Amino acid sequence: MKLTTLQYRIKDQTTGKRLVEMGYSCNYAWNYCNEVNQESWKKFGKPLSAFDLHKLTSGCAKELGLHSQTVQAVCEEYAKSCKQYKKRKLNWRSRKKSLGWIPFKGKGVKVEVDTVTYSGHRFKFWLSRSIDSKVRFGSFCQDSKGHWFVNFVIEQPEIIREKTGKEVGIDLGLKTLATLSDGIEFNRENLIKKFEKQLAMAQQARKKKRVTAIHAKIKNKRKDWNHKATAAIVNEYDKIAVGNVSSSKLKKTRMAKSVSDAGWSDFKRMLAYKAIRLGVEMNEVNESWSTVTCSSCGSRSGPHGLRHLIVRDWICSDCGTSHLRDVNAAKNILQFSVRGN
Ligand SMILES: [Zn+2]
Repeated sequence: MKLTTLQYRIKDQTTGKRLVEMGYSCNYAWNYCNEVNQESWKKFGKPLSAFDLHKLTSGCAKELGLHSQTVQAVCEEYAKSCKQYKKRKLNWRSRKKSLGWIPFKGKGVKVEVDTVTYSGHRFKFWLSRSIDSKVRFGSFCQDSKGHWFVNFVIEQPEIIREKTGKEVGIDLGLKTLATLSDGIEFNRENLIKKFEKQLAMAQQARKKKRVTAIHAKIKNKRKDWNHKATAAIVNEYDKIAVGNVSSSKLKKTRMAKSVSDAGWSDFKRMLAYKAIRLGVEMNEVNESWSTVTCSSCGSRSGPHGLRHLIVRDWICSDCGTSHLRDVNAAKNILQFSVRGN
């Protein structure tokens, strides 16, 4: 397993003064370590270990408004830095000069999708990518502009997964978002439709902030779903073929709402980078004719034109094979990736 750090920007409106205050408390604990460490050098000619420091600071966490493990983490970081820089004394952390820093252990925080709860306070962050592993430790930290971020250190498997020898074609659609050539479907509710009423109400009431918040919510939910679905696919197949479906043409049609909700391009982008990470081969192929071609005999006997949107299953007039439309299309996409269409 290797450790990876994920950083997220905390939403300004949820930070308040809490993080700043807690940052000051951490400075206080740090400076205390600095003080007693120098005393130890004077009296005993050696530094204090993280364990010593922890004993000396035990019980003060509550008074400082911090989780006890945060104080422990400050002690550990202090002892580690002394050792690393071979110093008896480190810089004092001051309100003016030091950027806020609040370390924590995994057990000290609770992470739910885009919210982190620490010491009884909830902070929301912009979920730029989902967190799929347990948080081992991390920190809140501030940048020079005063914005707060949260860092989560997670464990991720280092080894590229074992080969499965499986290949798959993927048909991206509207009714079912992703249909695989082996018949597995990945689907979710239409998020734009789900939040349509709320959005209309907020827009009518001219609540700009609310409108923005709903849009962000939809975006996050879609992203989260994309992460989960694409991760499941790259974990299962060694070779993936996906159609070159494009939303730009369809956005002008009456299906526009469904098309923009589907978010195919994000889905494909995620699939591509996850595939690279796991050593999975991914191809994007020209999907023209994939819905009308019989994947068994190659005859273009399927439902043509607008009708193909309504017809969910059909029988090939040439070879008699019965097809589920999307599964057949996915099978073709896989075949096209090998021999073209
Ligand atoms: Zn056929």
